[in-house]
Amino acid sequence: MDNWENYVRKVVPYVPGEQPGQASVIKLNTNENPYPPAPGVLRALKAFDVDKLRLYPEPDCKVLVEAIAEYYGLNASQVFVGVGSDDVLAMIFMTFFNSPKPIFFPDITYSFYDVWADMLKIAYEQKPLDEAFLIRKEDYYGENGGVIFPNPNAPTGVLMELSEIEDIVAHNRDVVVVVDEAYIDFGGVSALPLIEKYDNLLIVQTFSKSRSMAGMRIGFAMGNEKLIGYINDVKYSFNSYTLNQTSLALGVEAIRDMAYFESTTRRIIDTREWTKRELQALGFFFCDSKSNFIFAAHRAVPAKQIFEALRKENIYVRYFSKERIKNYLRISIGTQAEMEKLIDFLKRYLAD
Ligand code: PMP
Repeated sequence: MDNWENYVRKVVPYVPGEQPGQASVIKLNTNENPYPPAPGVLRALKAFDVDKLRLYPEPDCKVLVEAIAEYYGLNASQVFVGVGSDDVLAMIFMTFFNSPKPIFFPDITYSFYDVWADMLKIAYEQKPLDEAFLIRKEDYYGENGGVIFPNPNAPTGVLMELSEIEDIVAHNRDVVVVVDEAYIDFGGVSALPLIEKYDNLLIVQTFSKSRSMAGMRIGFAMGNEKLIGYINDVKYSFNSYTLNQTSLALGVEAIRDMAYFESTTRRIIDTREWTKRELQALGFFFCDSKSNFIFAAHRAVPAKQIFEALRKENIYVRYFSKERIKNYLRISIGTQAEMEKLIDFLKRYLAD
C-alpha cells in the first residue's frame, strides 16, 4: 500500500553548535568572533529607516555585491552573495555538482558537505586526511564530479599552501573546484588571485567569522563571471529575495572598515598563539591552526571528559563523536580574558 512517507525526502540533518540563552556562558563552540561588528554597523543600524521593511530587498543584492567587489578589486559580475556561506555553498552544490561521477572532499572536514550531497543525491567520495591531518593533493587527481575543501580545513585548522591548491585546481580543469575560505582571514593566504587564471575555481567566504556578523547571515562566492552567472540562475529559480534589507545595509559597513577588521583579526591571532602555548604546557597536542579555533587532544584525559567538565563550568567548546576525531575538542578563540578563564580552569582540572 502506498504511504505518503515513502515519498518523503529523508535526510540526516547537519547538527549546528548550541546557542545557549544565558549570557554567562563562555562560548567557544561555534567559531564566532568575540568582538563586536565594526562601529559603522551600529551607526547604520541606528540610522536604518524602518519604512524600508515594507519593500522587498534588491534581488541582486547590488549594494553589497558592489562593496565586496570593490574591497577585493573585482567586478560585481564576479561576486555572488547569500544568506551565510551555508546558503552560498548549498547553491553551489545544486548548480555545479550534477555529474554522475562522485564529488571529492576530505573525510575530516566541514560536516555540512556530506549532508548537502546526501540531500541533493550527489555521489561523493571522502578522501582521508593523512596521519598528520593534512589533505593529500594527489587524492584529488582522479576523475570526479567536482571538488570542495575548506582552507584552512575545519575542524583541524590546518592551512594548505597556495601551490598545493593550484595543483588541485590544475588537475581538475573539467569540473568546478570550490575552496571554502570561511577561516582564511586568521593568517592564511587566499586563493582568490587564482580565479583570474582558472575559470573553474570558486572561492567562498563569510562575514560570520572575521567580520563579527554571524547573526546577520552573509556569505559570498567569488569567481569567473560565467560561474557566478550560473549560480544566480539557480538562486533565481529557488528564492529571488535572499538577503534582507538590514543585512544589505549593515553588510556594506562591515566590509568597508578595513582598519577595524585588521585590528580584531590581529587580536584573535595573538590570543590564538598565546592559547596554543598554554594548551601545550598543559599536555594538549594539536595541528598548527591558522583559523580562529584550535583542534586539540590531551595526552592523558579523554576529550569527552574534558568537554563535560568545561560545560559544567559554563565554558562551551565543540566535541564531535566521529571516528578519528572523537578524542579532540574544537576550541574557538574568544577574547584574551575568556581564554585565560579557560586555561585557569584547565590548570585546576588537570591538576586534580
Ligand atoms: N564553511 C565552514 C568550513 C564553516 O566552518 C562554516 C561555519 N559553520 C561555514 C562554512 C558556514 O558559515 P556561515 O554560513 O555562517 O557563513
